[in-house]
Amino acid sequence: MPNSNNRRTVLWALWLLIVLPGFYLIIHYFPPPEIDPWNLFAFILFFVLMCLMPMNINGASTFLVQWVTVAVFLKYGIVVELFISQLTMLVVLFRSRTDEPQSLRIPFNSIMFFLISCLAGMAFILAGGEIGSVNLVHIIVFGLIFQIVSVVANQVIFYIYDQITGTPNKFFSIDAIWDFALTLCVFPYAIALYITEAYIGSAALVLLGIPFFIMTAVMKMYNSSEQVNIDLKKAGEIGHQLAARLSSDEVLDQFVLQVADMFKSDYAYVIDYRGGELIMLRMFENNEFIKLDIPAVRYNKGIAGNVIVTNTPVVYEKKSQWNEIVTGYIPVDAESIMCTPVARNNKIEGVLVLASKKKYAYVSHQLQILDILSTYFAVSLEKAGYVQKAIAKSERCGLTKLYNYRYLDEALEKCMNKVKSGELEKLSLVMMDIDHFKSINDTYGHQSGNDILIELARLLEAEVGEEGTVARYGGEEFVVLFPNYGKDLSMLFAESLRKKIEKHPFRIKTDLGADRSIQDVHITLSIGVSTAPDDSDEPNALIRNADRALYIGAKQAGRNKVAAYVK
Ligand code: GH3
Ligand code: MG
Ligand code: MG
Repeated sequence: MPNSNNRRTVLWALWLLIVLPGFYLIIHYFPPPEIDPWNLFAFILFFVLMCLMPMNINGASTFLVQWVTVAVFLKYGIVVELFISQLTMLVVLFRSRTDEPQSLRIPFNSIMFFLISCLAGMAFILAGGEIGSVNLVHIIVFGLIFQIVSVVANQVIFYIYDQITGTPNKFFSIDAIWDFALTLCVFPYAIALYITEAYIGSAALVLLGIPFFIMTAVMKMYNSSEQVNIDLKKAGEIGHQLAARLSSDEVLDQFVLQVADMFKSDYAYVIDYRGGELIMLRMFENNEFIKLDIPAVRYNKGIAGNVIVTNTPVVYEKKSQWNEIVTGYIPVDAESIMCTPVARNNKIEGVLVLASKKKYAYVSHQLQILDILSTYFAVSLEKAGYVQKAIAKSERCGLTKLYNYRYLDEALEKCMNKVKSGELEKLSLVMMDIDHFKSINDTYGHQSGNDILIELARLLEAEVGEEGTVARYGGEEFVVLFPNYGKDLSMLFAESLRKKIEKHPFRIKTDLGADRSIQDVHITLSIGVSTAPDDSDEPNALIRNADRALYIGAKQAGRNKVAAYVK
């Protein structure tokens, strides 16, 4: 990415130009007062702890460090405040989750924090603020100046940066207002900390720190239980949606889409576990389904393999945790991974893998939610399988697997409506009946008769292809429906089919007699053709006409013939 490389160079150059000499000048012109190293150490420790325990507000990690920053500034002045804010910035950067590389984030944030500290510190000094003052009014007035300038400077710098980088944001966003309100809320704590510290020393940090950390922990617990409730509700909705899907493909697609969205994943894969191998069923990357030829892998290998062997879901927070064990396909920029078995009736059927480009993208309660969703998924998939089978059964003939009379009836009606509405210009129906089939049964046995019917079904499908619909109309009678075929074309088809069948050797194993020898049998077809709208525009009449053509024109005329209906 040349763009990010350029940005990196510019940012580090700016850092060298601004932060380094700036630090030097500030130390030179505003040297810190005498520092009690233990006290400073206590402050630093407090900062680090606070950065490690961010408050979760509205689902975002919020690092409420300002109240201590203000206290440190009021006590030690700009140099120490600068130093500590840079340190906290580093800790926060390493803690927080984003996909921007650290080599970009560090110089940018360092410059930002540096400028904000300088601007706020200068404003304080220029306004006449005094470091180390214990006059309450003085502290409140000048502390507030420091604080407000920090927030405004922060806002302005971000705004300018967004303008430069071409991501224009509103100057007064909800986030900015929220930030400002939060700052005003914590300001009294900053003053309280500073004053108490001035009188009782480092113990003030413990005194005020304990309730603060307890509050953070309580809020964290509250927030995560709130999130669990939200996620559970959403999981329920997804479950309903899955249950409403009737085909396995739809269930699969819906499931992948929904979980990828719910768990904010860049990648989602459903892997089938079959015959000791893991086979990729669905691949969803960066909001779209993709198709790649991924070779099957042994079931006991890699991230998914481990999940199957142990039958336990797993969450990896970053690449270094799974890099060693991965064997199958996973994008190079994946960091966090969440992987769960998909089981039905305690039997593992597959694995779901979710991955994010961000580190620490998943939390443990999501694993339980995902487990519930996987169960919904497995059940919905099973149900869709039954539904599909039932539909197929009701539409197909059990012996030849061709469409049955019921299906043909519906298809014919639909096509005829299209003819009536003008959507289809013409429609032909070709009906055929095997000649003297009874004697074939009598000679070679009923099973051999069945084998012939099956073979004929395959031949018909191959001949018709995508041009029409083949159905078994009755015992040894078949029908082909040809949308857009006129009489001439259908007659040509019928005649060529008749000739083909006449010559085709049907290979059977006779089931009469002891030896069950293999034998080639020949059959012939009598065929009748009728066409809409020429002959009729009613579905039943079209069938009747073809039937009449078959019996009068073909059978009675000596069999092995093709006849068209004539009025
Ligand atoms: P034609 O049509 O030439 O007049 O003579 P046919 O012998 O084919 O006609 P008929 O209607 O008398 O007999 C149809 C035969 O088809 C009777 C029945 O045994 C056979 N048949 C119908 N369905 C099946 C089936 O599913 N399997 C087998 N093996 N035979 C079947
Ligand atoms: Mg017959
Ligand atoms: Mg018949």
